[in-house]
Amino acid sequence: MKNLTLEHIARACNGSYHGSEAQAKQEVQSIFTDSRKAAKGGLFVPIKGARVDAHDFIDQVMEAGALATLSEKDLGETNFPYIKVESSLQAVKDIAEFYLKQLEIPVVGITGSVGKTSTKEMIAAVLGQKYNVLKTQGNFNNELGLPLTVFGLRAEHQIAVLEMGISDFGEMHRLAKIARPDTCVITNIGLCHLEFLKSRDGILKAKTEIFDFLKEDGHVILNGDDDKLVTVTDVKGIKPVFFGVENKNGIWADEIESRGLKGIECRIHVKDESFKVLVPIPGRHMVYNALAGTAVGLTYGLTLDEIKAGIESLQSLSGRFHILENEKKNIMVIDDCYNANPVSMKASLEVLQDALGRKVALLGDMGELGKNEVEMHREVGRFAAEKDIDVIVCTGTLCKEMAEAAKEVSNGKKVLYFENREALEDALDELILPGDSILVKASHFMQFEKIVKKLAE
Ligand code: ATP
Ligand code: MG
Repeated sequence: MKNLTLEHIARACNGSYHGSEAQAKQEVQSIFTDSRKAAKGGLFVPIKGARVDAHDFIDQVMEAGALATLSEKDLGETNFPYIKVESSLQAVKDIAEFYLKQLEIPVVGITGSVGKTSTKEMIAAVLGQKYNVLKTQGNFNNELGLPLTVFGLRAEHQIAVLEMGISDFGEMHRLAKIARPDTCVITNIGLCHLEFLKSRDGILKAKTEIFDFLKEDGHVILNGDDDKLVTVTDVKGIKPVFFGVENKNGIWADEIESRGLKGIECRIHVKDESFKVLVPIPGRHMVYNALAGTAVGLTYGLTLDEIKAGIESLQSLSGRFHILENEKKNIMVIDDCYNANPVSMKASLEVLQDALGRKVALLGDMGELGKNEVEMHREVGRFAAEKDIDVIVCTGTLCKEMAEAAKEVSNGKKVLYFENREALEDALDELILPGDSILVKASHFMQFEKIVKKLAE
């Protein structure tokens, strides 16, 4: 890893180096936290967890060929080099900041309440048409995930696309200090993480900490249909580029038409030009992600043809509107179980309407919604009942309210309730019929991936 000698690492994280002078000049080959993935020439970062203290694995990791380790403890007389630090977690952040800074590659930072990962995938797919992109793997978006993502950067990468996720004030400031984005993208200001951030204004304030380390000649790309984000009109002299469907002041879309489970089609307008594109993942929200992808593509000099090709090359990720066909059972499953909130629940229910056969929604509790959680569950219940969906199955403690609200407006539609995921799992075989299209959606803690697994068998 360029310039990551043990000497430089120790300096970057304010640690004290213990080892030979010759070793101090060696660059590490990788940085890792999982002792089972010990890599030759790598630097081990032992993190103290609630149950396991990774310091216990230092000897094992060194035997496996690691170059050195960080350590919060004195290791006494050892024959391998180590860097003593106060906190491994803080050290990881400091090292990532140093590493990224001296690589001097452009960074796109993505945040927002909903759709960060989806937008990140879209932006990476677009930029991938022209550049060698490093993107956040999965959802590694927090104060540990972001540094580990950064450590994946190598000489061949030309641009980094980084997801940045938070749940409290100050966190984004710390993430931004590591990433120092050239381009900041905010997807929306929704209703997640209300526990700490209290209100949408709180969320806006916390998310816009991403601008704290924005480069002087940087770019700001915001959802122009979000009533909170449109109030951001100037960021240190930089005028944001807005994207939207209602807001036609920047990059915008119309002629939006669902192509069922194949995706959603739209026409994207950029100044006096436009192009038609099939976004290959269903859901109206995907139009927004495609618009964000277009805006970033233009920022980095892609042609409209390249942008269109990038959008159309997008692959879905499991758990995020990933469509599975089980030929044996003759069912289609929309695996959207990675997470859920009222906005994304409604978006997914709208897409389910376009599916073929009997439409079944398997919905589970949504977490982290704060004090209005009951009303939010009821609202989704009513929404589902008003849509062209045949069976609404609500599972979980909060979903009891969802089921009740759905029943109130269901016009004879089938609404079922299960206390927990296990009960739903047991009832699945009876519930699902050949020809069904099934949406599976809940917050992560509900572990609805187990439902998906069972349906896929
Ligand atoms: P997390 O906070 O867990 O990292 P995230 O912000 O990365 O979440 P995604 O995982 O991309 O969000 O998407 C969550 C859900 O929201 C998906 O299931 C998808 O259906 C929906 N979604 C994706 N993009 C958008 C968007 N731009 N607006 C609203 N909903 C979206
Ligand atoms: Mg995410």
